[in-house]
Amino acid sequence: MGRVLNGTAIADSIKAEVRAEVERLAPQGIRPGLAAVLVGHNPASEIYVRSKVKTCETLGLGSDLITPPETVTTQEMLDLIGQLNAREDVDGILVQLPLPPQVHAKTLLEAVSPEKDVDGFHPVNVGRLQTGQPALAPCTAAGIVEILKRSEIPISGQNAVVVGRSDIVGKPTAILLLAENATVTVCHSRTRDLGAMTRQADILVVAIGKPGLVTADMVKPGAVIIDAGINRVTDRKEFERYFAGDARREKTFAEKGSTIVGDVHPAAFALANAYTPVPGGVGPLTIAMLMANTVRAARLRRGLPV
Ligand code: NDP
Repeated sequence: MGRVLNGTAIADSIKAEVRAEVERLAPQGIRPGLAAVLVGHNPASEIYVRSKVKTCETLGLGSDLITPPETVTTQEMLDLIGQLNAREDVDGILVQLPLPPQVHAKTLLEAVSPEKDVDGFHPVNVGRLQTGQPALAPCTAAGIVEILKRSEIPISGQNAVVVGRSDIVGKPTAILLLAENATVTVCHSRTRDLGAMTRQADILVVAIGKPGLVTADMVKPGAVIIDAGINRVTDRKEFERYFAGDARREKTFAEKGSTIVGDVHPAAFALANAYTPVPGGVGPLTIAMLMANTVRAARLRRGLPV
């Protein structure tokens, strides 16, 4: 079994650095602040957003949770974003997705000031990232690269294969790895012979949302595997497919009636030189990088070095 890349521990050190940075900025009268907009009552979104707000509080960042009703219109949301763009105490604006169907998500994400776009979704930040300018990078992608760097895994010159091309995870991860001088291949649902591609990978990043799709035969022995997938397994037969003989998982499954599996079949980790477990790998980095991005945004907006 390869080395476990402990995302929780890496996220904890990033959060400790954020806290120290917040303390350093305080004497200058700067308190980085995040405004989180949560529309309606999607239970998963509520959990994510509350945990983001709570982390802000723990680290000494300002936070404001705004909860428009499910019936909110695009115009009302645009007005809200306009107010947040203008607020001096707000350095980062986060609009939690998904939004209700009557709200035009793209229009909204483009209305967020690029300087406060801590999710890194605004086309200006996407362009800055592509062209190597200081930008706010999407949190999960930035977290994936942090895991590699902080685990001292060489990136430059390595063959990196990214499976998944979403704007949130796959594409920005590919751009960041390219910026670190990896040779990057991006695969997706139309890729012919996925296994032939993934077997070329020294660094294999998988972000597709398909439980256990990347199997051991698709991995080059000695590769580093980063599994961003988060899939809940509730079916006993499916559970057996991934975790047969795993006593710890068996216990969780018996207690909770479910467990989480990534996009990589756990048997593939046995071949890896190092890998991110699910849960406890990429997941914890997303919130840590959101906090880091909020401090970064606070510095960039004031012309301070980052
Ligand atoms: P999307 O659904 O937006 O994108 C999925 C991507 O995977 C698409 O590019 C799709 O290709 C590709 N894909 C789907 N099926 C296959 C297949 N059979 N073979 C090859 N490629 C395929 O997902 P996200 O990027 O938002 O999320 C991916 C995973 O990461 C999910 O499990 C999600 O839960 C997790 N995630 C984890 C986060 C974290 O904090 N750890 C944060 C965000 C996401 P195509 O473009 O051709 O359709």
